[in-house]
Amino acid sequence: MKALQKTAPTFGVEFREVPRPVPRPGEALIEITAAGVCGTDVHIFEWSGGYDFMARLLPLTLGHEFAGRVVEVAGEAEGLAPGELVAVIPSAPCGSCAHCLRGAAEHCEHRSAKGTSADGGFAPWITVPVVNCLKAPNGVDDELAALVEPLTVAQEAVLKGGVMRGDRVLVVGPGTIGQAIALYARMAEAAEVVVVGKNDPHRFETLRALGFLDLIDTRDGDLETALASRFAGRKFDIIFEATGVPEVVQGALTFLRKEGVLLVAGIHPRPAALDLTRLVRERHQIRGSQRAPRHVWPRVLDSLVTEGERIRHMITHRMPLDQGVEALELARTRQASKIILSPVTRKRSS
Ligand SMILES: [Zn+2]
Ligand SMILES: [Zn+2]
Repeated sequence: MKALQKTAPTFGVEFREVPRPVPRPGEALIEITAAGVCGTDVHIFEWSGGYDFMARLLPLTLGHEFAGRVVEVAGEAEGLAPGELVAVIPSAPCGSCAHCLRGAAEHCEHRSAKGTSADGGFAPWITVPVVNCLKAPNGVDDELAALVEPLTVAQEAVLKGGVMRGDRVLVVGPGTIGQAIALYARMAEAAEVVVVGKNDPHRFETLRALGFLDLIDTRDGDLETALASRFAGRKFDIIFEATGVPEVVQGALTFLRKEGVLLVAGIHPRPAALDLTRLVRERHQIRGSQRAPRHVWPRVLDSLVTEGERIRHMITHRMPLDQGVEALELARTRQASKIILSPVTRKRSS
């Protein structure tokens, strides 16, 4: 089968012919029907920093946001039947380190992650542990199921940020994670959700389709200037940083109320400078959030049952897998917000 792989620690990716994987006991063979292109894939494609640990693992198939149909299961099926559509949790704890053995698998330090430390979803087939397969509920199709991974990242950020009814929320970063944070903050009944971006008309278009009209474009200056002119003196309860631009962190804190929470979800290629005295005086809380724990996944799948048609607006492009390089270029140049690659011709029933 042809898989889209990172082959060298430098700019680029390439298609390579690799053997179709064979499931080991406890694994399912999945025919991938939808795989999302993520900012992470773009960083790895560009080799722009933050993923140097991958150098020793190459060649490696990219793609960690994927869904597909169960083809076969080796050993215990645990409720999975061939043909079923599943969203796949891309990372798995090792099961044998000290953390895993004491039942704290979320702290595992030898976690394997499809698409970053093991072969991922930009391929026609993949094998995954059966326990990582979550059956898509009725009404959730392949492309929505492929969105579950980034949605869980955003839902986890909103939970960690502690968004409550009536909160004023600022989301810095208009990409998929920022969009989904805005969505889950609204579902948590935030009173106000403002999203900031920089010269990103396509992602702003997506945000409008999602129902977010309070958008701030910082194209003509820095974050502080743009926010000051709009919100003179008014501060936010929770600010989400989803840009990966370190300079944003200090700027955003200026607009955080006393004891407010800055939740950092972006991956930053450089350290950020912080005025810690101000942090102390304002009693600001800075929290980090990354991958969601398992219990968040069913919650997100449920949210797709009711919100799926709105959330579908996040998908701006649908392309065949063999145009994966073009897709990464579109994402890199921000001409696309969320691209879904489909290795097989999707057969819609209606
Ligand atoms: Zn992702
Ligand atoms: Zn472990």
